[in-house]
Amino acid sequence: MINKIIVAIDGYSSCGKSTIAKALAKHAGYTYVDTGAMYRAVALYVQRNTNSAVEELHDLNISKVVDLLQDIHISFVQTPAGQHVTLNGEDVEASIRTLEIGNLASKISTIKEVRAFLVEQQQAMGVEKGIVMDGRDIGTVVFPQAELKLFLTASPEVRAERRFKELQAKGENPIWDEVLADVNDRDYRDTHRAESPLRQAEDAVVVDNSHMTREEQMERIIDVFRKRCATI
Ligand code: C5P
Repeated sequence: MINKIIVAIDGYSSCGKSTIAKALAKHAGYTYVDTGAMYRAVALYVQRNTNSAVEELHDLNISKVVDLLQDIHISFVQTPAGQHVTLNGEDVEASIRTLEIGNLASKISTIKEVRAFLVEQQQAMGVEKGIVMDGRDIGTVVFPQAELKLFLTASPEVRAERRFKELQAKGENPIWDEVLADVNDRDYRDTHRAESPLRQAEDAVVVDNSHMTREEQMERIIDVFRKRCATI
């Protein structure tokens, strides 16, 4: 029998990580874990339990956020519409997919204690391998020993275009300049934060999908996955 491996997928926001990760997990019969959804679920809890509108990280009371962590239980459930994240038993999949929660997630993800809280749970999920996990620090911090590390990238404009369409499809009314600025801000925060900044692991396979169709990308990734499994 072929041994199961850990696949770590990292990359910038809106570069199609979760679509690829889900498809690869399905192909391999592996468990898929969307760690961004975990940061978003924490952000949602923070938003619900702090009074003021949080515009900037310095407006956030960091010790209050850290105190809230003990009341947060995150898990994943399978639904007919796919995998959903739950927050204290409540399916919050729809509530976490907004621009506002994405931004707050990016802010709270700079807090060391928030990262430690989630990384511990993510590492526990990988004990038995057979997992595809996507995020920003999977190949560098969560599973530095992962057998396969993929780093996905695409230009900011291509990613903003994808996010713009996604938001429109959800009935939101996005403004192009804001969506692009948001992608750039998030990239900056993800790559410049002190705690586990987004960076490419030295041994990661880089896939720039700016000019690739989803099928081309999948073909390439499945090929890399097969070759890697054959060497284990
Ligand atoms: O991937 P997604 O956009 O859902 O992630 C939301 C935010 O959570 C990201 O902007 C990023 O700042 C943060 N995140 C992180 N580490 C991860 C996954 C997500 O810091 N492993």
